[in-house]
Amino acid sequence: MSSQIDIAIIGGGSAGMSLAANLADLAPHAEVRVFEPKTEEERDCHWSFWGSGRHVEALKPACKGTWKRWQLIDHEKKVVHESVAQNYITLSASDYLKLCKANLSPTIQLVRNAVKKIDYKNNVAFLSAGDITYTAAHVFDSRPPEKKSGGMMQHFLGREIRTKEPITESDTVTLMDFRVDQSRGLHFIYALPFSDTHLLIESTMISQSKEPQQWYLETIDNWLNERGISVESDIGYESGVIPMDNCQPQDSRTSAIGAASGTIRQSSGYSFNYIQQQTKQLAGRISRGCYEVPTPISAKLVFMDRLFNRVLIKHPELSVKLFMQMAGALNGEQFARFMTGTASFSEWGRVILSMPKTPFLRHMWSV
Ligand SMILES: Cc1cc2nc3c(=O)[nH]c(=O)nc-3n(C[C@H](O)[C@H](O)[C@H](O)COP(=O)(O)OP(=O)(O)OC[C@H]3O[C@@H](n4cnc5c(N)ncnc54)[C@H](O)[C@@H]3O)c2cc1C
Repeated sequence: MSSQIDIAIIGGGSAGMSLAANLADLAPHAEVRVFEPKTEEERDCHWSFWGSGRHVEALKPACKGTWKRWQLIDHEKKVVHESVAQNYITLSASDYLKLCKANLSPTIQLVRNAVKKIDYKNNVAFLSAGDITYTAAHVFDSRPPEKKSGGMMQHFLGREIRTKEPITESDTVTLMDFRVDQSRGLHFIYALPFSDTHLLIESTMISQSKEPQQWYLETIDNWLNERGISVESDIGYESGVIPMDNCQPQDSRTSAIGAASGTIRQSSGYSFNYIQQQTKQLAGRISRGCYEVPTPISAKLVFMDRLFNRVLIKHPELSVKLFMQMAGALNGEQFARFMTGTASFSEWGRVILSMPKTPFLRHMWSV
């Protein structure tokens, strides 16, 4: 069986479904198929980002938590940020994907199948999915990028719990608590209090190799014990690996979108905002007949992030200090802008002045 379409989107994750939902807004009559083998529940996790305004309002049905305070902690100090304009927001990935699905138009549809094969003839793509061969004029590919062995990555395991007693500071996200074992690489606890008895705690590493599952779990147990937090019940577990290196798409013949196209910030692993920007701009372009995928992270930012990572790899003893000093140099609004790639020249200046100069200058030429 065969079917002719305008656009094939491979992968219905963050980028694929965001692009489809934007196309439903901006090019609702295009014949589009999104190919995704997994259900929303099968690929549920938490996606967090800084945001504000109308865009955030629209995401409310998928929102699991919103905070105006966040903190970074090491053995010497605590940096607490408060923001009026920006929220730190956590979405349920499954609810977000369902929200996108609910916004599709009759000609923009989700196909619950993996793409098994892609062939090209005379600039037309032939995609095999299920029993059907789809003929598509344009293909956008969000399959996860190739993982480089030995590359820098953020890897984590999280435990979502109900606590026996209400916790303190349930209005504050812990972005990084470095008071954990630092012997295997840069390691921190990331904790999201969804309420005063509902908590997600992730043991997160930035390094070049993964650790055994038990190691992350023990870190979480110790962190809970040290704070006197007793677990009433487990809600779920979540683990992941986010590449923090240059990402290479799986197929160089297709146009990559999302993580495979370089939307992950190499210094932080955050990608959600950049995927939102990329897919919105791309849908706008498609509505005007242009199919070129925008690059949402500027070359300057990519260079600075790669330099930052280079210093992390070469000087692991400085890692905690680099993050603490960077956070300490900025207030809440400035930090949120820095993390979303919208910091001003003077905010960049503050961060650069707070960093130790010699290692950055030494590695500038090898990035
Ligand atoms: C557990 C986890 C938590 C994260 N949390 C955050 C966060 O809090 N904030 C943030 O900014 N970033 C976060 N990230 C990083 C990034 O935002 C996510 O990885 C995001 O999902 C990337 O979107 P994507 O569309 O590029 O890839 P994905 O969302 O991974 O989508 C790719 C899709 O392709 C599908 N696929 C694979 N092969 C085929 C095939 N042959 N045919 C059809 N479909 C196929 C997969 O099933 C998948 O659904 C997180 C990453 C992970 C892994």
